[in-house]
Amino acid sequence: MSSKSPDVIVAGAGIVGLSAACELAKRGARCIVFDRGQAGREASFAAGGILSPQAETAPGSPLLPLALKARDRHISLAEELLRLTGVAVEHHRYGVLSLAFSDEDETRLRTLVEAQKNLGLRAEMVSGSSLTRIEPAADPRAKGAALFPDDHRVDNRRLLEGLKALALSRGVEIREYTALRGLEARDGRIAAVSTDTERIPTAALINALGAWARQMSGDTLAPPVHPVKGHMMSLVDGPSLRHVVYGNHGYIVPRVDGRLIVGSTMEEVGFDTRVTAEGVARLIEIATGIAPASKKATIADTWTGLRPATPDGLPLIGRGAFEGLVIAGGLFRNGILLGPMVGEIAAALALGETPAHDLRAFDPARFARA
Ligand SMILES: Cc1cc2nc3c(=O)[nH]c(=O)nc-3n(C[C@H](O)[C@H](O)[C@H](O)COP(=O)(O)OP(=O)(O)OC[C@H]3O[C@@H](n4cnc5c(N)ncnc54)[C@H](O)[C@@H]3O)c2cc1C
Repeated sequence: MSSKSPDVIVAGAGIVGLSAACELAKRGARCIVFDRGQAGREASFAAGGILSPQAETAPGSPLLPLALKARDRHISLAEELLRLTGVAVEHHRYGVLSLAFSDEDETRLRTLVEAQKNLGLRAEMVSGSSLTRIEPAADPRAKGAALFPDDHRVDNRRLLEGLKALALSRGVEIREYTALRGLEARDGRIAAVSTDTERIPTAALINALGAWARQMSGDTLAPPVHPVKGHMMSLVDGPSLRHVVYGNHGYIVPRVDGRLIVGSTMEEVGFDTRVTAEGVARLIEIATGIAPASKKATIADTWTGLRPATPDGLPLIGRGAFEGLVIAGGLFRNGILLGPMVGEIAAALALGETPAHDLRAFDPARFARA
């Protein structure tokens, strides 16, 4: 493949960029992915891997239909990655529990469960005594919980490993430690991108830069994405959990090897990625509030990541300021869930196709119009 004349350039090798690259290569397009660091080491690496359209998305949100399809896509993707790359992404369908500690929590969750049932989705309230039976390590002070049995989870780091391996096996060139600095347009069309040392002509560009989406010079739309920092922690030798459990304004995600991934804070502090004592203290509070026996667990690791947030909380998926420029981002708290599907949609858009999804609510130009 000539690296000088790709059909599509993908900016950013997070879950969105890698998914787009896999799809482009599958359709026979020549594609180069650029990342200013190591592929898949930013938000997509930091995440918990919860695939939870039901626990996370309001029933009336325009995002729900896409999020439900994205959850299904993970089922087939896990099978494809195992078959094509040998990477097992630990996709598990044990469901998600959301604990209720107060009457207010119970009312909110009951309303959510009823709204989802009305949409034909599976969801139910479980009593305190049933909770003790299905998730014995959960805090016995919980009055009950909402159970979303069809919400899933995945090991996001393995997923990135699988997507990278698949992209490489399909002939995608991934250029790590090479930042894209800017884009050039001519007559309203994308013409080229530049790194610190090179100008690369291209007719199509996917901006999958996550929290950094607005940092590409020459992009007159400057996608309105900003970073929201989250602290994370992993525990070993802690209690055993079967479900992803939400509670105490956070969550615990169990991994197959017994680790518990605890998240997360929501901090508007720009691009600061330091792990702070305050952040870790909050995670300990979350973990012990959900499963009291985690007090005795060992803290194996702590880290942070930057969620790509938008002003209205909805993604940006669609044409950018120029013909041939596709924006695929702003996936905020649900980018592991949405990323594979959004990457595939971005690939179709970059190839000039019309995807079979209603993307109107996600039009990147909506803020410019407003
Ligand atoms: C703490 C935390 C927990 C989360 N938990 C979950 C969860 O459980 N479930 C879920 O669905 N979602 C979760 N998310 C959200 C999810 O991780 C993100 O929405 C998703 O990873 C965004 O993917 P992305 O590909 O858009 O961005 P990223 O993964 O951040 O990728 C963007 C890439 O662009 C690269 N880049 C930046 N600037 C340049 C440049 N100039 N040139 C080239 N490359 C550049 C970066 O190096 C990076 O690799 C969580 C996020 C955080 C932070």
